[in-house]
Order: sequence, then structure tokens, then C-alpha cells
Amino acid sequence: MNTYCIIILAAVTGSWLLQTAAAVLGLGRTGTPLPAGTGLDMEPARRERMQRYVASGMRLNIAEDTAGTAVFLVFWLCGGFGVADALSRSAGALLGGFAGGGPAVTGIMTGLVFFGLLGVLSSLAGLPFSLWRTFVHEERFGFNRTTPLTFVADRLKAGLLVAVMGGPLAAGVLWLLALYGPEAWLPVWLLVSVFSLLVSFLAPRYLLPLFNTFTPLPQGALRSAIDRYVTGQGYTLSGLFVVDGSRRSAKVNAYFTGLGRQRRIALFDTLLEKLDDDEVVAVVAHEVGHCTLGHIPVMLGLSVARTGLMLWLLSFFLTEPQLFAAFGVQQVSYHAGLVFFSLLFTPVSLFTGVGFHALLRRNEYAADAFAARTTGRPDVLSSALRKLASENMTNLNPHPLQVALHYTHPPLVQRLQALGALPVRRG
Ligand SMILES: [Zn+2]
Repeated sequence: MNTYCIIILAAVTGSWLLQTAAAVLGLGRTGTPLPAGTGLDMEPARRERMQRYVASGMRLNIAEDTAGTAVFLVFWLCGGFGVADALSRSAGALLGGFAGGGPAVTGIMTGLVFFGLLGVLSSLAGLPFSLWRTFVHEERFGFNRTTPLTFVADRLKAGLLVAVMGGPLAAGVLWLLALYGPEAWLPVWLLVSVFSLLVSFLAPRYLLPLFNTFTPLPQGALRSAIDRYVTGQGYTLSGLFVVDGSRRSAKVNAYFTGLGRQRRIALFDTLLEKLDDDEVVAVVAHEVGHCTLGHIPVMLGLSVARTGLMLWLLSFFLTEPQLFAAFGVQQVSYHAGLVFFSLLFTPVSLFTGVGFHALLRRNEYAADAFAARTTGRPDVLSSALRKLASENMTNLNPHPLQVALHYTHPPLVQRLQALGALPVRRG
């Protein structure tokens, strides 16, 4: 038991405790009456069903966090990392020999096997919960539309994408580390940043269509109304699509992706079923707000800065023998150092995550205000948000600790109150 061991043990259990405390506090609040004046008067039976869905989701989160933490601790304390390292070294030597490369190639192969092994293990540990969430929890409340075939295909596609895109990135990082040692943090940062920028450009056109079908919104009353709004704003939309969200879930959504000329707005087919044309325009206006206010590049910039901070800190600990000893690994290596450091980084990551979420929520208020101002109808956006929350059975009374830790959007009541304070301009 060295100092690193104690710090990481405290970080992992502390983080579990915090998540569990937030969920338990949240469970105690599901039945709290809603404030008046938000227009959230729904039938008691509907409200009760929403509360049961929300509570069931929270209990599932508690179970998943607890099991995940327990599996990690057992793996760690039973020497799993040492075994994984030894296995990867044998496999890496074998693969490196096949590739006919020197020690550098063998080192990279070893690292890739190590990452792959841990990745597969952690995804297997989460699989039962993923299955339960889709086919029991969501199914029970009538949301699930994912077939077992789609579930398996999604998993395979996601795994393949990680291998095809993450593999070369990891190899590049290991290669830079082998070349420059801990001082590699700067070139590694550059590489990772260019990679994430590239993914942001490629995702809307090449990655997301692997999972969903995007069809341009057909001409008609809705399309004309949206075009009128968008042109009125002097904005050009690079793409307005209907996405087949109904393939996986009955939930309703809309989002904005991409950078530069690749930016596009995607409306779920389920959203078009539930909202009237004015409400859809209000939702589009909210998404245009995100774009006009530059939210995507700013958040991307911040996440690049966060990666830089992490990599700079990493350079101090990467080859610290005590850190390896804490995980029962004798031989110091860059691949294991990366994994161990990311665990040591847990508290910093929790802290920056809270700040990140707060900024995301601030952006949501700003996009709401933009939509309200440019359409002149905050009441229409409010009505769209109420429908979204009701259709998706959103938690209407989250605990502030849950909001701080996990919420990328402000709770509905606060959004409605903010919109309610804005002027309505009719006609
Ligand atoms: Zn938004």
C-alpha cells in the first residue's frame, strides 16, 4: 500500500460514493410538487408513471456504478493489471516478431493489446447493464424499439470504429512517447487535438450515418416555415435532416452537429410526430442559436485545453515506479502508465467535468433566449420543451447534486422559468 494506492482507492470509492449519494438524494425528490406557473399540470396517473420511470432509471444507475466499482476493485486488488501487462507483453512480442519490426514496433503492439484487453473487459463488465437498460428498463415503459439485431450491430460497429480510428491514434501516441519520453506531452496533445477536430468534421457525414439514416426534410409547410425563419436570420443551413431515431427508441430529440460547412441540424422522426410546426421551428431556432453563438467551437476548444492539462500532468507521473507498484506491475511502460495515470486523474476529471457541465447548461439558456428573441415566441418554445419532457419522461425534480454532476441541460422547471421571464411578440 503506497501513497498512490491510497490516493486512487480514495478517488475511486469517493467518486462512487458521490454518484450514489446524488442518486439516493434524487430518489427522495421524485414526488416533490412542481412549482406553479410553469404550465406543468399533467394528469396524476401520467405524473406517477414518469416518477416510476425516473426512479427505476436511478436505481439502475446505482446498481451499475456499484457493480462497476466493485469489478474494478476486485480486478485491481487481485493483480489483474499485472496479468494483463504480462499477457500483452507476450502477445506484443509475438505480433512485433510477425511484423518484423524492432523493439519500437513490439512496444506499440504490446500497448495496443493492453488497451484492447482492458477495453474489452470493461465493455463486457458493462454489457449486462446495457442489455437490462434497453430490453427491460426502457421496454417496460414502452420506449424501447431496439431489436436484438440492432443492439448487436451497434456494438459491433462501435467496436470496429474504436479499433479502426482509436487504434492508429493510440499507436501514434505510443510512438511519440517512445520517441520523446514524458516530454512527448506536447506533440501528443497536438496529435490528439488534430484527431478530435478531424472527428468533429467527419462525424456528421461519415460516422453518424453508420448508425442512423439521415433524410433531408422534405418540402412542405414545415420546411417552408423553417426556411423562412432561417433566411430571416441571414443564416445558411448546410443541412436539415430527419433522422430515424424511432429505430431505437420512442424518445423525442433534435441536435446540431459538425463544424464549418459540415454543420447540420437533425430532427428525430419521433419529434416531428409529436410537435406542431411552430414548435419544431422553435426547436430549430434553439439549435441555430447554438451555432450562431459559437457553442460548438468553444466547447471543442475547452475540451482541447482540458486534454492539454491532463497530458501536462501526465508527464510528471508517467514513469513513476511507485504508481506501477500500486497496480502490482513491475516493469515501467508507457502503455500501462497512461492507464494508471488516467485513474490517478479521476478527482481532477470529476472536478473539470462539473465545470464543463455548468458551461453546457449556460449554453442551453443562451440558445433558449436566442430562440425566444428571434422567433418572438418564448411561449411556443416552452410548450415544445414541455412536450419533450413529457414524452421522454424526464426527471422534473432532479437533486442539485445530480444536476451538477451529470446534467448537460438545465432542469425543465428552470428553463421554463427563464423563458417565462422573456417577452412574447405576436404576429
Ligand atoms: Zn441545446
